[in-house]
Amino acid sequence: MPKDLKDEVSPALSPLPYIQSIAAYQPGKPVTELAREMGLPVDSIVKLASNENPLGMSPRAKEAAAAALAGGERYPDPFALVAALAARHEVTMEEIVLGNGSNDVLDLIARVFLDSGRSAVAAQYAFAVYPIATRSVGGESIIVPARDFGHDLAAMEAAIRPDTRVIWIANPNNPTGTFLAAEKLRAFLSRVPSRVAVVLDEAYNDYLEEKDRYDAVPWIREFPNLIVVRTFSKIYGMAGLRIGYGITSAPVAGLMNRVRQPFNCNNLALAAAIAALDDVDFLRQSFECNRKGMTDIVDGLERLGLEFIPSYGNFITFKAGRDQESMVAVHQRLLRQGVIVRPLAGYQMPEWLRATIGTADENARFLRALKTALE
Ligand SMILES: *Cc1c(COP(=O)(O)O)cnc(C)c1O
Repeated sequence: MPKDLKDEVSPALSPLPYIQSIAAYQPGKPVTELAREMGLPVDSIVKLASNENPLGMSPRAKEAAAAALAGGERYPDPFALVAALAARHEVTMEEIVLGNGSNDVLDLIARVFLDSGRSAVAAQYAFAVYPIATRSVGGESIIVPARDFGHDLAAMEAAIRPDTRVIWIANPNNPTGTFLAAEKLRAFLSRVPSRVAVVLDEAYNDYLEEKDRYDAVPWIREFPNLIVVRTFSKIYGMAGLRIGYGITSAPVAGLMNRVRQPFNCNNLALAAAIAALDDVDFLRQSFECNRKGMTDIVDGLERLGLEFIPSYGNFITFKAGRDQESMVAVHQRLLRQGVIVRPLAGYQMPEWLRATIGTADENARFLRALKTALE
């Protein structure tokens, strides 16, 4: 991919300048790519770079997706999943918007509320997709400095301008793993002007410990400008099937559904999501695997004397060196040992790496490789 698109695109095409200004999203390195680069067998590689579920996909979801292949010639009918989600969250079907991954939901929000005369507020070190979604429709991002790597809600409130129409919040946040308690979020919502849509992206909500868990969905009754966003990509283990959803007041959902592609979620993903919702055994196993793995990795990082940010998600961000150069060296040595983690230079955190919590074996391999990489 060209580094600077401006140099590659013919001026005669005159692409929109705000599109040219978007910094490309850097995904985690695929296993197949590292295998090609290093000449390693695919199954020898440990990928802890994209916060995927190390236990795979729920077996019940897998079965449902396979069965759904039989109806591949038909356009998808999202009714059954929307009904299941409405029942699960105790909302009406009109309050739900399905997305091709929750990323798609974020794009729908941007298309409904933002354009070149409007701005969106996001926190420094928040999910990289927010500024991309904002810019892709011409909107301006107002980036508010983080506090202890997390969202500074008071500063975000103060940053709201007359032209602000969206506030993006990830809770827990990726890539820092920071968390905002329910009371703080609610108090924030009550202070934000009703003309500003507040997006509460809860991709990692299912990894919260009992004591931190909260349910923001009922808040949509009080705050019609609240949009809660969830995904099947993380604890449900379905990142490759691409399905997520938003829950919001019916009028806002109605606007988002108008711009949504009518068939944005495919048959396999729809069927798998319905089955995954009820696979409580798989969810419990995934939660436990993450909790144990988080303890092991935190212990390992402490033993190695590395600074890390306490995380509420299925990943942890740690300081791999004094500067970007030493981080790059550690990252390269990990890759050579077949371990993929995520550098955060794109987040203006050039000394940091983010590792997804894996299975017990993967975590042990990661910690051994990291020890070697630091020597
Ligand atoms: C992983 C992640 C998502 C999920 O994206 P999908 O498009 O649903 O795969 C959303 N928000 C955050 C903050 C994430 O880290």
